[in-house]
Amino acid sequence: MLNGQGKPYAVFTPFYKALQAQAVGIAPLDEALGDWSLLKPADPACSVLPDSLQTLMQRPWAQGLMANERVGEAEAWTQLQRFAEEDMADYPEQRDFPALPATSALSVALHFGELNVRAVYFYLLALQESGAVDASGSQAWLRQLVWREFARYLLWHAPQSQFEPFQSKFVAMPWDEDAEALQRWQHGQTGIPIVDAGMRQLWQTGTMHNRVRMLVASLLTKNLNQSWRVGQAWFDFTLFDADPANNAMGWQWVAGCGVDASPYYRLFNPVLQSRKFDEQGDYIRRWVPELKALSSKAIHAPWEEPLECQMKGVRLGVDYPLPIVDLQASRAAHLQRVEAMKAPGNGG
Ligand SMILES: Cc1cc2nc3c(=O)[nH]c(=O)nc-3n(C[C@H](O)[C@H](O)[C@H](O)COP(=O)(O)OP(=O)(O)OC[C@H]3O[C@@H](n4cnc5c(N)ncnc54)[C@H](O)[C@@H]3O)c2cc1C
Repeated sequence: MLNGQGKPYAVFTPFYKALQAQAVGIAPLDEALGDWSLLKPADPACSVLPDSLQTLMQRPWAQGLMANERVGEAEAWTQLQRFAEEDMADYPEQRDFPALPATSALSVALHFGELNVRAVYFYLLALQESGAVDASGSQAWLRQLVWREFARYLLWHAPQSQFEPFQSKFVAMPWDEDAEALQRWQHGQTGIPIVDAGMRQLWQTGTMHNRVRMLVASLLTKNLNQSWRVGQAWFDFTLFDADPANNAMGWQWVAGCGVDASPYYRLFNPVLQSRKFDEQGDYIRRWVPELKALSSKAIHAPWEEPLECQMKGVRLGVDYPLPIVDLQASRAAHLQRVEAMKAPGNGG
């Protein structure tokens, strides 16, 4: 699919519209697959885990990590069916709230091909036609699948973008290399509760809510000025759904150097985002238990409520770190860096 100038689309919305126009003409896969008899049945021995893996799976951390994982095609379809019947209608309103189980959690199945996107598309179309699924909910969810397609499309047309910024002026971005800051971010010890909750969810479960992925990525690249590549590498190492296309697009979008990216001057304020999308602090309490006792007012920015922390026995800097960075000052520094990078004579 190319745009009116015969070039690959570089903006999501026109890509989405063009894809919708083409989708009318596509057919389910069954007819095109060819001769099924060529497919050999799986060797039963393949389903027996090697001893080394069995031993690994006995470890408490591995059991915790796998507790919510359902492996295999049949499980993936059951999960999709349940999501379509029970949660899809609320998806548009609830998908941004990390404490709610409002998204499909199917990215791992989609990444590993347990779910085929075309089959999913026709399944939902049939449900829509029969009225068995909420139309606006399923449209909103399908739109996210198109983001996934867009990521694959971008990587197909610009394979170098897995590791290089789409916008070449960002090659000159003067990233810092701060090993200690990076480690605090990785370990969920930044002192910014919503970010720490996300990073700990990632470490303990191999996944992280989409909204929180954006917040942790914004803090790392824009407030801490660490390259999106180190964040991308950590996600690649820890996410079950780690995907070359989605991960590169996600990081470049947040860092501001991607196609159709979040503008460089847009920094998420993690405290405001936390108050908006985790108002009661439920998500934070789940992953940052040392802040459990704090009120929903104090939990998003404990350093602003020293009295309450003292009363509730939360010693800042001892039980829970002070913020790794001043959000306002680091925002201003980021904007200055980008302005300088874009200045004429600097390739801008
Ligand atoms: C910095 C960053 C890195 C990311 N890295 C990955 C990654 O490595 N692998 C990955 O699958 N997703 C990645 N995402 C996208 C998104 O966060 C996950 O796809 C989503 O959280 C998975 O949860 P879900 O299956 O419940 O999604 P749902 O909300 O139920 O969405 C359905 C499906 O649509 C696709 N999708 C949804 N949002 C996006 C998106 N923004 N971009 C591309 N596809 C999307 C996924 O396949 C997802 O399973 C990243 C986002 C950011 C901001």
